[in-house]
Amino acid sequence: DAIVMMDPEGRVSFWNPAAESIFGYRREEVLGQIVHQFLAPERYHDAYHKAFPEFHRTGRGNAIGKTLGVHARCKDGTEIATAISLSAVRIQNQWHAVGILRNETERQAREQELKRLATTDHLTGLANRRHFLGGMELELERFKRYAKPTALLMLDLDHFKQVNDTYGHATGDAVLKHFASITLTVLRRTDLVGRLGGEEFAALLPDTDLDGALHLAERLRWALASLPLPLEEGRKVALTVSIGVTPFFPADSEVNVILIRTDQALYRAKQTGRNRVEVEIPD
Ligand code: GH3
Ligand code: MG
Ligand code: MG
Repeated sequence: DAIVMMDPEGRVSFWNPAAESIFGYRREEVLGQIVHQFLAPERYHDAYHKAFPEFHRTGRGNAIGKTLGVHARCKDGTEIATAISLSAVRIQNQWHAVGILRNETERQAREQELKRLATTDHLTGLANRRHFLGGMELELERFKRYAKPTALLMLDLDHFKQVNDTYGHATGDAVLKHFASITLTVLRRTDLVGRLGGEEFAALLPDTDLDGALHLAERLRWALASLPLPLEEGRKVALTVSIGVTPFFPADSEVNVILIRTDQALYRAKQTGRNRVEVEIPD
């Protein structure tokens, strides 16, 4: 961690090797310089100027004795996220400050990567089942509050087992990715698309009424049927999907009720010949 000490006038009086490597300034360059002028981005300067006189007099301040997340400006101009712990030290009746600054950039990147891994399906990059269901919970609450039309599609590839049996599992995987990329092309950025498991997908459509949902479902169905997956030697895998559609209803007490209804529509699409869109509306 970088350890930086500031004298009663706000000038650097100590700058350790970690501070040199994190911020890019050598000790000789910064000793005696006003710390915030080179290390703090401009947007922090006002708050610093307001707090400094009080610190100078009393050794107290909002930032003292805590760990705060702040950005620091390095010598090359880049800003990095840091966690800073500031303490006041009294020497010969004057207040000095010691800051311990940890570079948080990598930890934050790791955290984001963990979050991505925990929420996405590794094969297709779509939302995984848990993340999708979480999205539905949120959308159902929003629906109850604002009553904007919302719809759910459930999509299951037709005769997918045959694709695996005929072309092998790797081609089966390529089909799943192919389908995922079609859904992302056809749907809007605000729609949440998830892989619920195997060759079953779902799409959550905010601000979409039944007509709109049916229209999108038909476009998806049509897009997959007209875009077979190309293989080597010019061969192609013809694909179709069956889709169940349902709108959210005020009486829907929980996510499961909507999932079951959409599943019933999907089941009917399979029963009545596949490569079809079916709707289920509650009584
Ligand atoms: P239907 O038209 O009734 O939906 O028939 P289907 O063959 O698509 O459905 P079924 O449930 O019988 O078979 C689904 C197959 O999906 C079986 C399973 O081996 C395969 N599968 C599940 N997950 C994966 C995967 O990640 N990759 C591959 N390649 N296959 C998978
Ligand atoms: Mg299937
Ligand atoms: Mg299935």
